Amino acid sequence: MPNTPEAHTPQLAPDENAPCFCGSGRKMRLCHKTASADSRAVQMTRLYGDVEVTIADYRAGSPKQPPCHEGCSSCCSDYFPVSQVEFELLLVYMERHWSKDEVREAFERAEENLLAFQSENPDLHASLTHTADRQGELDAIRHHAGRNSFPCPLLDRATGRCRVYPARPFLCRTHGSSHTFYGSWRERLRTERVCEHIEGGRAHRKITPNVADLWPRYEELADVRVGPKRNPLRQYPIFYWLVLYGRHGSGQTTQLGNRDNFDLPLAEHNARMAAHGSSAN
Ligand code: SF4
Ligand code: SF4
Ligand SMILES: [Zn+2]
Repeated sequence: MPNTPEAHTPQLAPDENAPCFCGSGRKMRLCHKTASADSRAVQMTRLYGDVEVTIADYRAGSPKQPPCHEGCSSCCSDYFPVSQVEFELLLVYMERHWSKDEVREAFERAEENLLAFQSENPDLHASLTHTADRQGELDAIRHHAGRNSFPCPLLDRATGRCRVYPARPFLCRTHGSSHTFYGSWRERLRTERVCEHIEGGRAHRKITPNVADLWPRYEELADVRVGPKRNPLRQYPIFYWLVLYGRHGSGQTTQLGNRDNFDLPLAEHNARMAAHGSSAN
């Protein structure tokens, strides 16, 4: 569910004295006390804020609008890969706003999603469980026939509303409600429909703002860069992150075993991950 005029998210924290990235409304230095204002997570929330402003400005000033609206959630069954830091920001949001039972249900739903995904899309499932480069993942996604048979486990199926809306990932914010010329010419010339309500290519570009300047920032935060070298990190759909964290992390809870995405400045975090050989795995 992309941006809608009804649910504009305010810009998020640029420093320790600004409201905390978690949405508590408290100053970050009094809320998430150990967090760094230059961390991957805080920079990602800042980028989210810039996406919101770009799309809201367009919506306020353009007579041509995408048909996205609150409760339109067909695309929440699309295969949306998200980075680890984006997923951890969802856990932080759930920690603050959801009950323990609701959290547990989301993890349980994700396990059900995995079973369906595995039997319906064995090739794409295989690409999740094996080492793959970013292009390999993109190719696998392109060959994914249509939507998943299930929506994102964080969607309220009764109302069609996103239950983590203020913290939703970059792709959820930009899909449908924006377009980009960023990427290769092959990317730029793609004309596949965005969804059943929006034609692709030129038709989509005519009714949405171009967010090409925001994509390189996203990639800087989703990947590991040290000097000129950028190593892509694996991205997974939300249900798969839930399964991984539920099975291998702190169980089916919102607890993070490691807070590096929040507590370390981005450059330091990148250097540490590079030293430990983080790559496309
Ligand atoms: S991209 Fe399509 S399915 Fe998604 S919210 Fe917009 S109109 Fe609805
Ligand atoms: S987080 Fe899930 S429910 Fe929310 S907009 Fe993204 S895909 Fe939809
Ligand atoms: Zn906080």
